[in-house]
Amino acid sequence: MRILVVEDERKVASFIKHGLEEERYIVEAAFDGRSGLEMAMNNQFDAILLDVMLPGKDGFTILKEMRDAGVATPVMMLTARGATEERVQGLDLGADDYLAKPFSFEELAARLRSILRRSSPEKSTKLRCGDLVLDTVSHFAYRFGKEIELTSKEYALLEYLIHNKNRILSRSTITQHVWRHNFDPESNIIDVYIKRLRSKIESEDGSRPLIQSIRGVGYRMRDLPMEEADDKK
Ligand code: CA
Repeated sequence: MRILVVEDERKVASFIKHGLEEERYIVEAAFDGRSGLEMAMNNQFDAILLDVMLPGKDGFTILKEMRDAGVATPVMMLTARGATEERVQGLDLGADDYLAKPFSFEELAARLRSILRRSSPEKSTKLRCGDLVLDTVSHFAYRFGKEIELTSKEYALLEYLIHNKNRILSRSTITQHVWRHNFDPESNIIDVYIKRLRSKIESEDGSRPLIQSIRGVGYRMRDLPMEEADDKK
């Protein structure tokens, strides 16, 4: 799950970012209103945490412009404590929830899970590819009913692949989404991670391979059985 945090107080932004990253979200931060709006409009996020008082453009204006442009990403406003008007205004403009500052990280994480659950079309928090199941709330992966232990990056990579299952993803697309930086053709980081993922999710005897290599391009997670001839290196 990709989350955008728009918050000008760097300490608060980094507190949220680190906390969410530990919970295996992919997090991006914007520190002013204009760049926050630009990122919200031009990227796909699963949720946005939006501060109200921001330099450049305030949170309400960002929310309004996003909703006017048809961006339906769930938004949680970060408001000042006791500011009832702020909360009402935010909800009226199409915010999904609000959180009064100061807040505990536990509460933020719980409310975030709640808006993510509500926004998921099938009200399900499970992503599936064949017999592999990913729980996007607890961030656990299961195959054949057994839990698979994954690191944060492995989880993020697997979630991205499952979200886009049956589509071919280039190495550079994967790098941009999961590692948040531009693709370095000299680096084999993706291949190293894919190899590790495979060894974890395809380790059972007789388990069907799920990740297909597309020579010279990248990878594809397959729901359907792969052809015998497919290159699986
Ligand atoms: Ca602020």
